[in-house]
Amino acid sequence: MSHQISVMVHTPAHSGLGGALTYESDLAQTPGTLVRVPLGSRELLGVVWDTPTASDEAPQTMQLRKIASALEGIGPLSPTWRQLVQFAASYYQRSAGEVALAALPSQLRDLSTEQWARRLKRKPKVTTAYEGATQTIPTPTDEQTQVLADIAANKGPFLLFGNTGSGKTEVYLRAAQAVLAHNPQAQILVMVPEINLTPQLEERFRARFAPQWGADCLVSMHSSLTPAQRLKNWLAAHSGEARIVLGTRMAVFASMPHLQLIVVDEEHDPSYKQQEGARYSARDLAVYRGQLESAKVILGSATPSLESWHHSRPATAAEPAGRYMRLAMPSRVGQGALPLVRRVDMNRQPYKTVFSNHLLDAMRERVTRGEQILVLLNRRGYAPVLNCNDCGWKSECPHCSAYRVFHKLDRTLRCHHCGFTQPVPRACPSCGNLDISPLGRGTEQLEEHLAELLADVRRPDGAPIRIARIDADSTRLKGELERQLAEVHAGAVDVLVGTQMIAKGHDFRRVTLVAALNPDGALFSSDFRAPERLFSLLMQAAGRAGRDASMRLVSPCEMWVQSFHPMHPLFEALKQHDYPAFAEQQLKEREQATLPPFSFQALVRAEARSQEAAQAFLNAARDAGAALADELLVDLYPAVPMTIQRVANIERAQMLIECTSRKALQHFLAHWQADLHAMRNAHRQVIRWAVDVDPLAI
Ligand SMILES: [Zn+2]
Ligand SMILES: [Zn+2]
Repeated sequence: MSHQISVMVHTPAHSGLGGALTYESDLAQTPGTLVRVPLGSRELLGVVWDTPTASDEAPQTMQLRKIASALEGIGPLSPTWRQLVQFAASYYQRSAGEVALAALPSQLRDLSTEQWARRLKRKPKVTTAYEGATQTIPTPTDEQTQVLADIAANKGPFLLFGNTGSGKTEVYLRAAQAVLAHNPQAQILVMVPEINLTPQLEERFRARFAPQWGADCLVSMHSSLTPAQRLKNWLAAHSGEARIVLGTRMAVFASMPHLQLIVVDEEHDPSYKQQEGARYSARDLAVYRGQLESAKVILGSATPSLESWHHSRPATAAEPAGRYMRLAMPSRVGQGALPLVRRVDMNRQPYKTVFSNHLLDAMRERVTRGEQILVLLNRRGYAPVLNCNDCGWKSECPHCSAYRVFHKLDRTLRCHHCGFTQPVPRACPSCGNLDISPLGRGTEQLEEHLAELLADVRRPDGAPIRIARIDADSTRLKGELERQLAEVHAGAVDVLVGTQMIAKGHDFRRVTLVAALNPDGALFSSDFRAPERLFSLLMQAAGRAGRDASMRLVSPCEMWVQSFHPMHPLFEALKQHDYPAFAEQQLKEREQATLPPFSFQALVRAEARSQEAAQAFLNAARDAGAALADELLVDLYPAVPMTIQRVANIERAQMLIECTSRKALQHFLAHWQADLHAMRNAHRQVIRWAVDVDPLAI
């Protein structure tokens, strides 16, 4: 007897074949089974989905094709895994086939039936004993004990708000241990923003669990694995063999049949948001997955995202508590006090000063003593805002609580919120000064400049000092970042200049001074999330200083901030190391302006040969959705060029969609997709378009 089965395959996102395809099979196939199916002249990997429904792409009059084969020796993907994929696809407006197949290792797709058979025959490895050093397990602090008791007694999800050095990792380790003690089959997913920067975490997990569970109890999942490694690790997780999966955002889709605990470390990190294809937030999906699988979820951070902070608000007289449970660990274990924050008022410095004399003196003194210095540049590609160097005027939008962005190409100022556009003024509209320029620039030659300023300084051994720069440019070659970091660790570098890359997770033991040179661009940015990122970056950088106790005795650690706005509330909160105060002030502003988390956003981006064509497509889409948007109280804003408007001769435009109800926004997007697809034919010049739900930058 022949069975009709429904199969998810990866069809191009805009082909219109969004859902499952129907095939015939001689044998019944369990949903979740991996199969090979013919499509056109090709053979594709597919996942058997639930029974076909009338809406699936299957013209009843057509002869159905037969599946080619089922992949042997590999169990079906679980119903919850399929539900996760289905949810992610519908929430982020992509096809389930695309999301499902992107979540599977490429070798499942690329190996032929013969190759796969050979792969299966490979002898299963005997579990290897762990040969690393056994670690002494630290006694938990009172704070850690309390937090662990709360995690054990409550459902979560938990926001673990712990200072740098408060021992969040020890909480993750012990929570994992508790889960495994209760159920030896249990699996634990630990996510980190960038695995290359955190081999220490992998080592700590291995050292803790391998002695009991074997060296293979932990596998990693990230983009720098070879296809063969990725398949091996994926199979270990899928079979339930691996107890712990440590990975980057892609790991949120790992097939783990016995998943019981999910940890998202540094949950505020923007790297958890995928920036192409299905633009999912791995952190948000982790919370959803936890609910789906009844697994506990711990989101950890010293500077949580304002969304998570808001979701974990305690109950007040007027309002019930948020849906996350907030757990705080304010103390630093054996790390001493956080560094003293010193602010330099740049208004009092000579025009165009890059390093104030006070800062230079402090740097000289420390380098002479053999200490290291971190110079932090804030160059996170913020959209440029114009600034008058005389009176402090900035290119605010008269209609929004947003700054208009300087578009170099056509010399305009545009609001990325409401679209309001004007030509760039010749002089400052407020004082007439001709010197108006983008904020937060002028640090390109900083490294050479600093070398000149410190040319006469000597290290304790009399040698000239060494300055190194770490940023995206200096680390383009593979292995270069690791090589440069090793030099810093070895003490060969005295002053390290770099972007946010250097603030993350590195252990620079001899650093006693961190200087933030040009943070103002983030205070007045067209991106409402810029202050949040800056605060987190500065807190993280401050946490880099003073890791070595013997160093601290000689020089108390300091963080220097050079700013034209030293009294800004962000720096006030930084000085007190007071994240809750900062969050409260920011959330108040967001609430007044109805920005996330008090509203929900989506962006549609379009690319075309001309800016007119890209905008025409978006504006037509806006017209097509207008009636439904009205009904659902969804705001559709006019199309604007993107900040980086032209890339490789392709023009890019975007349009913002906003609504105070997530549900209404989702409802709108789901219906509006069809309009967008249908409009494509009338807009032949449009090369591609995509929807970004919960975008991280507008
Ligand atoms: Zn002015
Ligand atoms: Zn505006």
